Amino acid sequence: MTRFTFRPVVIAGGRDRSFWLQDAGARAASLPLSGSADCDVAIIGGGYCGLWTALRLKEHAPDLRVMVLEADICGGGASGRNGGQVHSWFAEIDQLTRLVGETEALRLCRATADAIEELASLQASGTIDMDLRLDGWLWTASSRAQEGAWDPAVAANTRLGQAPLRPLDPETIRRRGGTDTSYTGVQEARAGSLHPAKLALGLRSLALARGVVLHEGTPVTTIEAGRPCRLETPAGAVSARKVVIATNAWATAIPELRRYIYVVDSQIIATAPVPDRLAALGWSGGASVCDAQAHVLYWQRRPDGRVILGRGSGNVAFAGAFGAAFNRRPGATADNVRELHRLFPSLGDVAITHDWTGPIDCVAEHLPVFGRLSGQPDIHFGVGFNGTGIAQAPVAGRILASLVLGHDDEWSRSGLVGLGRRTTLPPEPIRYLGARLVRHAIRQRNDAEIQNRQPNALVRWLSAQTPGG
Ligand SMILES: Cc1cc2nc3c(=O)[nH]c(=O)nc-3n(C[C@H](O)[C@H](O)[C@H](O)COP(=O)(O)OP(=O)(O)OC[C@H]3O[C@@H](n4cnc5c(N)ncnc54)[C@H](O)[C@@H]3O)c2cc1C
Repeated sequence: MTRFTFRPVVIAGGRDRSFWLQDAGARAASLPLSGSADCDVAIIGGGYCGLWTALRLKEHAPDLRVMVLEADICGGGASGRNGGQVHSWFAEIDQLTRLVGETEALRLCRATADAIEELASLQASGTIDMDLRLDGWLWTASSRAQEGAWDPAVAANTRLGQAPLRPLDPETIRRRGGTDTSYTGVQEARAGSLHPAKLALGLRSLALARGVVLHEGTPVTTIEAGRPCRLETPAGAVSARKVVIATNAWATAIPELRRYIYVVDSQIIATAPVPDRLAALGWSGGASVCDAQAHVLYWQRRPDGRVILGRGSGNVAFAGAFGAAFNRRPGATADNVRELHRLFPSLGDVAITHDWTGPIDCVAEHLPVFGRLSGQPDIHFGVGFNGTGIAQAPVAGRILASLVLGHDDEWSRSGLVGLGRRTTLPPEPIRYLGARLVRHAIRQRNDAEIQNRQPNALVRWLSAQTPGG
């Protein structure tokens, strides 16, 4: 009998929770599983991916018995900790085209644009209040080395007759992004920002209203493959015809998936609300902004006048295993604070009230992968969002629902399905040591490039050795 064993989820408590989860007063809405239960589909993980999959399954088959098992509370993972930047896959169309070809790339990009409209209508109808502001997503540069980072995406879009990314002038960046340190870029207009935890908790409510059975505080410890599969939890067991692994970076516990996923983190800070100071900068609106550094830097202005600013920190998890340091590392906020002050010199005295970290499930192609575990027709997975999931998880839900239901359609046939065309990573400890070296070089390159200095040749070479090129 084949068994898959998960690693424990180290749950963030109190101040180690993200600003978003604290702000939303997030707490469990369901009881841990106790005793035995059965269902048609058991989804492991109550983040955007798991919840959207549950919702899509219910759209197709309202009577299907769908259960979500979440170790923490829904949104306790990346879905309640992220930067809240909402943008489609048009910015990644060049990478998508390389992986799945032009036609499928365009279809997937349009699907994420449709997902943004779906979020907008969930908010407009009062179904989910997620503070969605479609005031644009700005992809900008603040140093010479970053200029034109968007050119491959713009060129790939142009080849396909699309123009979703429009040039930005410095004045628009200053007004909508609050800074004149960034001075060039492009923007996606039907994109913007939201409150990630409100979205996660809203999806949870919607799933409950649609009849999804939810157990929070319920880590799945093992999956025993079989017909049905048996999932063990600390105080119970679930028998399920189909299983979906939607555990983001925690999926590295599964040896087959670990060969493709490396786990890094991104760290975010929130300032105290300073609406008057932001008004003095002429900064209003809910655009989300990203600076094209290799360790991507991103920020948004909250309606209450806080600045939320995050950045890839370069931290790598050995063998994909991680603990409390991927929840919060208060001692490591200096980089983010430095960047805050570089972008907004006049905010040098503003207090940082929150800082947190979250794990990111990276794959070499920077695009998620879906499928079934080898030899396991009933155990599905969806991983590898690479730090871009808000408008992508609704599409992931469609793909996973079609796979689970055995549909033969454009979703189950998507080029994102199957590990066959994906890049395996080197084994440990080579992977970890290599990743540390490369990440350190990226950091040095960033630091030099931000100041318009040229990094040395070794740093340039090492920093280009990321998986997938
Ligand atoms: C700091 C940060 C910033 C980001 N910024 C953005 C952004 O601005 N825009 C954007 O689009 N995307 C962003 N992302 C990416 C986005 O948040 C993710 O792609 C998305 O949330 C992934 O959803 P998920 O459901 O796959 O993962 P998660 O939300 O992490 O959900 C996985 C869940 O599985 C649970 N789990 C794990 N193991 C088990 C187990 N054994 N049993 C039961 N439950 C288990 C975890 O507790 C977790 O809740 C960011 C991510 C991070 C970390």
